[in-house]
Amino acid sequence: IPVDEFDLVIFGGTGDLARRKILPALFRRFCAGQMEGKSRIIGAARSDHSTQEFRDFVTESIREFNGGTHCEDGTLESFLTHIDYVQIDALGTDGWAELAEKVEEKRIRAFYFSVAPSLFGALAERLHEHGMADSDTRIVVEKPFGRDLASAKVLNAGLAQHFDESQIYRIDHYLGKETVQNLMAVRFGNMLFEPLWNSQYIDHIQITVSETVGVGGRGEYYDKSGAMRDMVQNHLMQLLCLIAMEPPAKFDPAAVRDEKLKVIRALDPVPQDDLVRGQYLADGPEKESYLQDVGDTSSLTESYIAMKVKISNWRWAGTPFYMRTGKRLKARTSEIAVVFKETPHSIFGPESGNHRNILTIRLQPNEGMELGVTIKEPGPGGMRLVDVPLDMTFADALGPDAEDVPDAYERLIMDVIRGNQTLFMRGDEVEAAWAWADPMIEGWEDRGDKPKTYESGSTGPEEALMLMHRDGRRWREIR
Ligand code: NAD
Repeated sequence: IPVDEFDLVIFGGTGDLARRKILPALFRRFCAGQMEGKSRIIGAARSDHSTQEFRDFVTESIREFNGGTHCEDGTLESFLTHIDYVQIDALGTDGWAELAEKVEEKRIRAFYFSVAPSLFGALAERLHEHGMADSDTRIVVEKPFGRDLASAKVLNAGLAQHFDESQIYRIDHYLGKETVQNLMAVRFGNMLFEPLWNSQYIDHIQITVSETVGVGGRGEYYDKSGAMRDMVQNHLMQLLCLIAMEPPAKFDPAAVRDEKLKVIRALDPVPQDDLVRGQYLADGPEKESYLQDVGDTSSLTESYIAMKVKISNWRWAGTPFYMRTGKRLKARTSEIAVVFKETPHSIFGPESGNHRNILTIRLQPNEGMELGVTIKEPGPGGMRLVDVPLDMTFADALGPDAEDVPDAYERLIMDVIRGNQTLFMRGDEVEAAWAWADPMIEGWEDRGDKPKTYESGSTGPEEALMLMHRDGRRWREIR
């Protein structure tokens, strides 16, 4: 469905995020026929480029990161006619009058802050000063949204000076993933799941986001952050909210975000014993250890974290959520596993073994869902039971249409243009998530806790296995 004509200004248009994600995403939407008529994309960054040079940059970015989208010949050339560039300094006066002139026309205006968060406040201020912060304006802000509650409040206050909350789109690209939205469709679009979706029937839930890469060239940045700030407070928290929230009355921004906020506010603080932090070790001469990667042998920052989280509310009392995320692990995977309880009584006797239904929601690779169901093992061997998957890999179920599933950035940017905030984090949600995370972080920082070590290519520190074993449970395989 085409969206209304718009001007999208990308502050930081020459940066890494624009190159790898934003520009290719816009091109794919253009290929899909969604960018109408005179819509424009205006790169705005500090470097001195002509419009043609920026178009060359866009071309390179699309060639490298377009992900094999098939477009008709000539599409790229026609996409480039929508691209413009302004050299601008967020902290100075250069370029602002020119930008204001370019976006003068009355139409949807979105400003994507793809720059360091320290510039968010200055950008908001400049937009206001130059008359670009009117009620038709939307701003999109990238992560990290603060490094603790205090800094998140400062960012929120800086934006709130000139923009209403309804104009602010805080991106968490996990929310733009098709499977994540499908999680809501499965929960609230089927009669099958919701009646069972509580501590009476669900034993526990596991959320795993594992990466095989180390911190690579981002060492210096990452070391100031760590897995808790970089992944848990935002991405894993968003997943947890969608699994745990009450059914919103409507699928609209206020209702969905109100319910997510209630979940965050119901989270118990995680005691030290329910938390494991780790740092990866070297793997041969090629893959250095975390400490070597960040160039600081005394760093106490975690590249891995696992924790047991409890939600103190009526629905979830007694059902823990185990979350883990880390770098240099065995495989690259993101999944949520909802592990149901065993049947109250086995009519097949002890030899039939223990069986549970597990609903697995895979974000990557192969976005899809799988429901483990217990059936009779075929053959004459009596009533032996076996677990088999009811597999719903989207690529199989949806056929060729699955290839057209837009990536997270495509969907989210188009939602900004449509003015739909459902899949964006609200300011109070972000603050509540920091309010939950801060005491844990302060705790280990004050104590000077040393992260455990783990082998590269493993599933994380041994201690993380114990987190589950002592509860008589185990992590799902990382594959
Ligand atoms: P980058 O360093 O590659 O690019 C920064 C951009 O900001 C450049 O275009 C630069 O010209 C511009 N810029 C810097 N100072 C400026 C100023 N004073 N005035 C105007 N423009 C200025 O950074 P990036 O990796 O593209 O990241 C941008 C933002 O997105 C950051 O907040 C980052 O944390 C976030 N982010 C990045 C990624 C990623 O994969 N790169 C992922 C998630 C979030």
